[in-house]
Order: sequence, then structure tokens, then C-alpha cells
Amino acid sequence: MQGICLLGATGSIGQSTLDIIAQHPDKFRLVSASANVSVDKMAQICRRFKPQRIVMGSQQARDELATLCAESSTSFEWGDEALQSIVADAQVDQVMAAIMGFAGLKPTLAGIRAGKRILLANKESLVTAGKLFMDEVAQSQVMLLPIDSEHNAIYQSLPQHKAGAHKQDVDKIILTASGGPFRTWSLDEMANVTPAQACKHPNWSMGQKISIDSASLMNKGLELIEACWLFDVTPDDVEVVIHPESIIHSMVSYRDGSVISQMGNPDMKIPIAYGMTWPNRVETNVPSLNLTQVAKLHFEAPDLQRFPNLQLAADAWFMGGTAMAILNAANEVAVAAFLQHRIGFLQIAEVNRTVLEQADIRSVNQLDDVFEADAAARLLAEQCISCGEK
Ligand code: NAD
Ligand code: MG
Repeated sequence: MQGICLLGATGSIGQSTLDIIAQHPDKFRLVSASANVSVDKMAQICRRFKPQRIVMGSQQARDELATLCAESSTSFEWGDEALQSIVADAQVDQVMAAIMGFAGLKPTLAGIRAGKRILLANKESLVTAGKLFMDEVAQSQVMLLPIDSEHNAIYQSLPQHKAGAHKQDVDKIILTASGGPFRTWSLDEMANVTPAQACKHPNWSMGQKISIDSASLMNKGLELIEACWLFDVTPDDVEVVIHPESIIHSMVSYRDGSVISQMGNPDMKIPIAYGMTWPNRVETNVPSLNLTQVAKLHFEAPDLQRFPNLQLAADAWFMGGTAMAILNAANEVAVAAFLQHRIGFLQIAEVNRTVLEQADIRSVNQLDDVFEADAAARLLAEQCISCGEK
């Protein structure tokens, strides 16, 4: 029986994780869960899964939840300290890191330091603190299983399931991307898209922020950096290929000409269950792949003119230091501004570029360097957006 601490329980990854726990009550138990402000959703989770501890993002959300679940024996807490403490409980074996954005960094690191198996959905934490994050993983000797479908596919396609193993045999990693809802749209057409259009992903059902990132290809940029940290490569070793059907979730190309891929219907329950049960596998309720129904798979090169975020991410990797935290922070602010109709869709990449050009890029020696870079980049991005509004 594996005890699960589910960070970001009310989100899209959170829901899929709960589905796997519910399908296999003999294997998994929800020990603790967190959410920011979604009180009603969390009340349902509390009634159904009866976790020991729940942490909310604010005192108000905590109090409302405690009132709604007055009969339950769960302890209701709030704030950063509580969040970092639930991951370390003795009953917890695995931490699902599924908080959205940079906010997931500290609790994920706390899970690593506590020696738990880390199921990493929260790519922003690895992107922003890459080297420190991987150093902590090595020091604590924890299992880090990528949940992002592409990285999960690469992990499954690499020899011995070990980052860096047989590195000399790997020619390149092929990171697939659906291309998002605007794959075939012109720049003129993209200039006027609404948040609702951008959130409507053709293949995956996901949270708002990652849906916008998928539409702007920033998600693929973040994933490029994520792959570099996870598998100890550089962007030169990774080829991004647009594959609109999202059936092949990524590939590894070997020096003898072999290419190994992981395929399946696009449903996050597959990589989540893989991470939770590795090195074994369990049933999910995802229908198995019907290849004759799929019939055709397509591939094309990404268009960096229309989707400059992908190039910005590669640039940030090579700039090194705090550049990746800066790009991520700018993007989080820009996406929020787009969702609030303060900027247009194409301005997301413009804000990202401006902030990356103007910010002071430093080396990362300690976690504070990452937090300082994040805060400064958020300010710059906000200034850039306010200027555009005038
Ligand atoms: P979501 O928006 O649906 O859910 C986010 C969760 O995080 C919610 O439970 C929310 O309450 C919590 N949260 C948000 N801001 C918070 C804050 N400041 N403090 C504490 N908690 C906070 O997002 P999602 O789609 O489930 O994605 C979660 C993470 O997983 C992201 O990093 C995303 O990039 C990654 N991911 C998601 C998918 C997917 O299919 N949804 C696939 C790959 C990777
Ligand atoms: Mg992905």
C-alpha cells in the first residue's frame, strides 16, 4: 500500500491521479492533499478519500473548507509551511507534484529532501531551479519519475530507465508536440484569439495555464529545458517535431538507426499510473490504442517565426544561470495577463523576449538566487505589460 501526498489535488493532473487511486484502492491511499482556493472541489475530495491532512493556499479557504467538512477527522491547514510539512509525513511514500507554476518549487524540493518518490508533473519547478533540483535528487537518492507525457515516454524509451545510461548510444531525443490549436493559423489570425480559443486544446484536457502554453509553444519550450535537466542533454541533442495526433508521446533515436517510442491515447492517466507503479504497471480505464482507427500519423517541423517561445527557451538554456527562471516568470505573468484580456496572444512571446533581454542574468548558487530572479522578472514583465496598456 503506497501512501500518496497529492499537491494540486483540485487540478487536472490532481483529478487524474485521484482516478488512479480510486481504481486501485488496494494499492494506493490518499494521505494528504493540497489546493490553492478551490474549496468545493476539495470538500468533495475530502469526503470521498478521507485524507489525514489537507493544506489550502489561504486561511480563508482553509476556514471555509473546515466548515464544509465539519464532520470529518481530517486536519485542515493552510500556507507554505504546512505545504512543506505534509510531503514529509511518515505515511507518505510518493509525492505527486501537480501544483501549477513556480509555486510548486518549494514543496517539491521538500518532498525530495524527505526522500519520497517524486512524481513530477510540475515542470516549472525543474525548469527554474534545474541544477539545484537535480543535485538534491542525486543527494537524497530519490526516485524521480517524469509525469509530463513526453518525458514519461522518453524515460520509457531510454535504456535501463536511467538518465544518462548508455548515453553514447543515444543519437538524439525526439520531443513531440501537438502544435496546439493554432498550428495552422497565420500570425494575423493569431493576433486576435481569445483565451477561450487558446484554452481549447485539440487532444488534451488540461489546466488553463498549460493549455495557453501549449497554444504558444511555450509548453514545448519549457519541456525542452525539462528534458535537458532530466536526461542530462542540451537543446542540440533534442529535436522538436510537431505531431498533431498526439499518439506518439516522444521518441529516442539511437546511433544504430533504431528509434524507440512510447505510444498511447492522449490521457494523462497513463503516465501517472506508470509513475505510481514503476517498475510495474496497472490497468487504467484509458481505451487501448486502436491503430486502424488512428490510421495516419503526421509530422512536421515547428515554425519558429510564428511560435518564437520555443527558440526563447533554447536561448535561455544556453544563457544558463537564472535565465530559465526569468523566462518562466515572465511567461507566468504574461499568460495571466492574456487570460485577463490585458494583452493579446502574440504579446505573450513579446513580453517573454523583452524580459529575457532586459533582466539581469546571474549564476545560480543557492535557491535564493532563483527566487530573486523570479521576483525581479515578474516586476519587469508587469512593467512591460503596463507600458503596452498605456
Ligand atoms: P490546474 O490549473 O488544473 O491545477 C493546478 C493545481 O495547483 C490546483 O489544484 C490548484 O489549486 C493548485 N495551485 C495553483 N496555484 C497554486 C499556488 N499558488 N499555490 C498552491 N497551489 C496552487 O493545472 P494542471 O493542468 O493540473 O497542471 C499542473 C502541473 O502539471 C503544471 O505544472 C503543468 O505544467 C503540469 N502538467 C500538466 C499536464 C496536464 O495534462 N494537465 C500535463 C503535463 C504537465
Ligand atoms: Mg507535456
